[in-house]
Amino acid sequence: MNTQIEQLEPCEVWAQFKKITHVPRPSGHEEAIRNFLIHTAQEIGVEALRDEAGNIILRKAASPGMESCKGVILQAHMDMVPQKNRDKRFDFVQDPIQAYVDGEWVTADGTTLGADDGIGIAAILAVMASKTLKHGPLEALITSSEETGMEGARLLKGGLLQGEILLNLDSESEGELCVGCAGGLDLTATLNYTTEPAAGAWSPLHLELKGLKGGHSGVEIHLGRGNANLLLARFLKMALEQYGVRLVAMDGGGLRNAIPREASAVILVPTSQVAAFQEAVKQYHATLTEEYQGIEEGIVLHATPCELPQAMMTEASAERIINTLYGCPNGVYTMSPSMAGMVQTSTNLSRIITHEGEAQIFCLLRSSITSEKLALSAKIDAVCRLGGAKVETSGGYDGWNPNMNSPILHTMVASYQTLFGKAPIVGAIHAGLECGIISTNYPSLDMISFGPTICHPHSPDEKVNIASVARFWHYLTDTLSHIPVK
Ligand SMILES: [Zn+2]
Repeated sequence: MNTQIEQLEPCEVWAQFKKITHVPRPSGHEEAIRNFLIHTAQEIGVEALRDEAGNIILRKAASPGMESCKGVILQAHMDMVPQKNRDKRFDFVQDPIQAYVDGEWVTADGTTLGADDGIGIAAILAVMASKTLKHGPLEALITSSEETGMEGARLLKGGLLQGEILLNLDSESEGELCVGCAGGLDLTATLNYTTEPAAGAWSPLHLELKGLKGGHSGVEIHLGRGNANLLLARFLKMALEQYGVRLVAMDGGGLRNAIPREASAVILVPTSQVAAFQEAVKQYHATLTEEYQGIEEGIVLHATPCELPQAMMTEASAERIINTLYGCPNGVYTMSPSMAGMVQTSTNLSRIITHEGEAQIFCLLRSSITSEKLALSAKIDAVCRLGGAKVETSGGYDGWNPNMNSPILHTMVASYQTLFGKAPIVGAIHAGLECGIISTNYPSLDMISFGPTICHPHSPDEKVNIASVARFWHYLTDTLSHIPVK
């Protein structure tokens, strides 16, 4: 067993990867890797240019006899996620990654490895440097700042690339082909509310719902997990109506791309109703525990005494906020008709916050079909407007709708079958990939995303499987030799 990275097979890929690990490249600090890519291109004699967005584009002519093949764009991203263990002293802007061989894997000492997407870049450079591989006209697109919002892909201009096929080398399960992804859209609804003095016999309580699993608002949205904001709204709707409870403030959820795990509210319960209200809290907890059996295990709901606030929302304001929140669509909206079990369009009601006369509701919508995403956005807008909210959308980007008749998919399924004696898994992801964004300015590209097996990307435990890199390379080069003619 080789313990030196540069001696692993295929050595043309690992040698490039080793060099890449020595170039610091956390997102936003990408000048060094850009210079490295341009310098390497000059050394191996291929054309290189930097676009206005900071992406690097490489071009290589077809190998002899392959000139009439469709042009292929090889795509990877140049940046990496800088994560380290707490006790590790490491400066991602200065220090080379300490990569090493650990059994069947390559990993790094106490930091992310950057195989995501350093292996993609290494494969591209190995293809570009090869004098023996068979391939048609080639381009490479190495994008900047993918990990922090896909800025390079967003700012990529149309007309820069000529290829008809794009092979994205940023997937993390060898043997799987990704043929679709979701676009996104941020929606924010703002409701004004009025308050009045909290006069009367009130018991102030801090009502808290927590212990839900949460998760990724895209790839885990179909798992039926509880949304803390909506589960709390459901209870508050009943409490306002049945116990004369008054709302002071509400705060739930966090990041737009996370299913909310916790939500809380400050409420005023008529003192005469406190015992009955606490009984209702217990009952609701039992109800949720039963409803979510097998999905959520640790739901916590309690109401504890807190300081008496000076003001409370008017009844009308609180009712409008709770009804709007509870009526707001959430979760899976449609499933893909072409791919079994795949979510096509969804929304995550990620956050509710009330502050100084303003309640804000945040949603993140996702879809592989932009028109359907906009239709869902209009539906949420309609509900929120009925509640008197002002609705704004921002940060929209396109998805990539799976095309099961894609020519490159047929080529790559056949190639995999021939090389490995079995069919690859073909799937899509209900989250954003650069492919979706790139397709905005290059709508006719035939795209596929694949890569070697990488475990725990974005964490200090990141590791890439050595044998899967060999299969990935074999598969990539075989695919390039079988690209259909124009
Ligand atoms: Zn990546």
